[in-house]
Amino acid sequence: MSHPTDGSCIFCKIVADELPCFKLLEDEATIAFMDINPVNPGHALAVAKGHWPTVDVIPPDILAAVAKTAQRVAKAAMTELKPSGVNLLQSNGEGAGQSVPHLHVHILPRYPGDKVRLNWVYTPGDKAEIEAICNRLKVAL
Ligand code: 5GP
Ligand code: ZN
Repeated sequence: MSHPTDGSCIFCKIVADELPCFKLLEDEATIAFMDINPVNPGHALAVAKGHWPTVDVIPPDILAAVAKTAQRVAKAAMTELKPSGVNLLQSNGEGAGQSVPHLHVHILPRYPGDKVRLNWVYTPGDKAEIEAICNRLKVAL
């Protein structure tokens, strides 16, 4: 299977075996490996083999394959590492904190008292505003 690639992309180089990684698994469309800057023990990445930067441009079936790989890794982390929880996180664009523009899902085991800052406190929204944005999005679907 051929994939789009970008010669300057670090994940494309890992997929092509030009850079090393601690590989967990590989299938036709995806690869999973350990994050080299783990925010917590067991931090891993499920990565599309092809170079698509973000969720709006990747083919849906490849995105589904990445989700399936993330699920396999999350299940292994839950069984083996017994964290208190696992976040799956996928960022799009610099504003969302994406640093590698090649689509990937973080598998992020969580442990009591860890310093990961992802979760927020619920604050009820303005219903009219929520509905207005809902209506705008429905038009864009
Ligand atoms: P992002 O910030 O794009 O959501 O996540 C990119 C992730 O890739 C970061 O967590 C970063 O630690 C990881 N990363 C960056 N370069 C490398 C690398 O060369 N090898 C591995 N295994 N992970 C990397
Ligand atoms: Zn790439």
